[in-house]
Amino acid sequence: ANTRTPLMAGNWKMNLDHHQATHTVQKLAWTLKDAKHDYAAVEVAVLVPFTDLRSVQTLVDADKLELVYGAQDVSAHESGAYTGEISPLFLAKLGVTYVAVGHSERRQYHAEDDAVVNAKTTSALGAGLVPIVCVGEPLEVREAGEHVPHTLAQVEGALADLTAEQVAGLVIAYEPVWAIGTGKTATPEDAQELCAAIRVKVAELYDQATADAVRVLYGGSVKSSNVASIMDKPDVDGALVGGASLDPEEFAKIARYQ
Ligand code: PEP
Repeated sequence: ANTRTPLMAGNWKMNLDHHQATHTVQKLAWTLKDAKHDYAAVEVAVLVPFTDLRSVQTLVDADKLELVYGAQDVSAHESGAYTGEISPLFLAKLGVTYVAVGHSERRQYHAEDDAVVNAKTTSALGAGLVPIVCVGEPLEVREAGEHVPHTLAQVEGALADLTAEQVAGLVIAYEPVWAIGTGKTATPEDAQELCAAIRVKVAELYDQATADAVRVLYGGSVKSSNVASIMDKPDVDGALVGGASLDPEEFAKIARYQ
């Protein structure tokens, strides 16, 4: 048994405008309420497009929802001549809890490397946000049997120069690239292997207390039909859910993983 609170986070990616966001969050909150969901036992978050944040905040505040929300990216800078970027301070002001950093789609389409991921993680922490640092190997790396060292190198790169206290409070998401949006889920054993290896790496870089505190999620084609077997694994502290999080009833089932 550990003291980590499981986190089920939905990554909407570039889907749902601010009207649709309101509808989806309402439906998610009602469904979880009907199921008498205990948010203190399992945290539920949605990571929404920037343009949805204000609407989601308004709804969460008005209805006193226990659901938390976050963004999918953040600038490495606080302010200045960075056209198109979003400051972590702006996110904090909108009541944001979490921010995904280094999602494989950002690494792939926006050339984010470990140094950028580290800078964004540091930036998020500086504004009091909780980074969800995404790591994981592409298919050819898995096929070459290099998935563990590849992923651990990403972890080490992302956490460079952070304190033990900062690392204890953040979230790492293991998302094998070949399992994202493909319908191919890693087996529960694959998820456990990497989540455990990440925790061992954190213990090596910091100490056992930090490793015991950091939450490590699995992501990649998680659905209500496979979530329970993944959540059953001792080092998996939650799930980062893409496609399936767009359907609030399905995501509520995933969040409850029974
Ligand atoms: C993701 O985008 O983080 C993800 C895991 O996507 P999907 O669940 O659709 O594979």
